Amino acid sequence: MPTSYAYFQGNVVPLEQAKIGVMTHAFNYGTAVFEGIRGNWNPDDQTVHLFRLREHMERLTRSAKILTMEVRDSVDRLCELAVEIVERSGFSEDVYLRPMVYLASEQLGVRLHNLQSDTLIFLTPFPAYLPEVARCHTSTWRRVDDTGIPPRAKVTGIYVNSALAKTEANLNGFDEAIMLNADGHVSEGSGENIFMVRHGKLITPTPADNILEGITAQSVVELAASELGVETVQRQIDRTELYIADEIFMTGTAAHLTPVTEVDRRVVGSGRPGPITSRLSQLFFDCIRGKNEKYRHWCTPARVPVAQ
Ligand code: PMP
Repeated sequence: MPTSYAYFQGNVVPLEQAKIGVMTHAFNYGTAVFEGIRGNWNPDDQTVHLFRLREHMERLTRSAKILTMEVRDSVDRLCELAVEIVERSGFSEDVYLRPMVYLASEQLGVRLHNLQSDTLIFLTPFPAYLPEVARCHTSTWRRVDDTGIPPRAKVTGIYVNSALAKTEANLNGFDEAIMLNADGHVSEGSGENIFMVRHGKLITPTPADNILEGITAQSVVELAASELGVETVQRQIDRTELYIADEIFMTGTAAHLTPVTEVDRRVVGSGRPGPITSRLSQLFFDCIRGKNEKYRHWCTPARVPVAQ
C-alpha cells in the first residue's frame, strides 16, 4: 500500500509523524515560504516525472532569501530528498510535493529575525485542480503589492489574498479568479499566471505586476518560441483587453495549462480553446510526463516500485 512520507526536522518519516506544535511561529503568523511540485505519473515507463524539480527548489531558496530565512539544505540535497520521498511513498498516480521553509520556533512575537527555521517536504496524491476549461471573473480583491507582501516570494501568508479571491469566484459560480493590481492592471489568478493571445502573440503581465514568476509560464513561453515560433510579450494588460482577446489560458503547477473560455460573462474567442492554446497544451502535457525527448531534462524520474 502506498504511504505518504515526509522530510521533517532532518529525517524522512511517515507523514503522520510530521507534526508541529500550536505555538509554531509559521502557524501563528504565516511566516513560511513554500513550493508546489507536480509528480506526473506515466504508466508507459512506470515512472513519476517530477516537473522542473530543481527550478522549484531554487525558487524556494530565493523566496527564503527575501524573508531572510536560512535554508540549511542545498538545492541538490532538496532534490534528492524529493525523489526519495516519492519513491518511498510508492504512489503510481499523479502526486504533488510541498516543500516548505518555515519559522519553526515556538515563540510568539511578530518578526523574522532571531528565530529558527526548518525545512519540510511532504507528498500527497493530487488529481486535476481546475476543470478542463475555466470560466473566470475579475476579483474584487486586488493582488497584494510588492510593497506589502512580495508576491514573487511564495509566502504562505500571502495565500489569504488568493483564498479570498478564489472563494469569491467559486461562490459566484466561476472556476477561478483573475486578480488586478491596486492600479487596475491584470496580475494573475489565485494560483496561476495568465496569458492572452492577440495578433498571433502571447501576452502576459510583467514581473513588476505583482505576479509569482511562474515556472510553468516560463516553460510554456519556451515551448511557444521553440516549437510554434510564437513570441511572448510581457506588458501591462487592462481588464477589458481580456474581453477582446482571441485566446486566454492560465498556467500553474496545480492548474497545468488551462484554457479560459469566459471572463466576466464575455465569451473568449469562439468559446472553445483556440489554436495556439490547444497546440501548446498538447506539447506541454507530453513534456510533463517525460514523453518529449527534447524536453526530458525538465523531468526528474522517480521510480515507483510496482505494486504486487
Ligand atoms: N501565481 C501564483 C499566485 C501561484 O500560486 C502559482 C502556483 N505556484 C503560480 C502563479 C504559477 O507558478 P508555477 O507555474 O511556478 O507553479
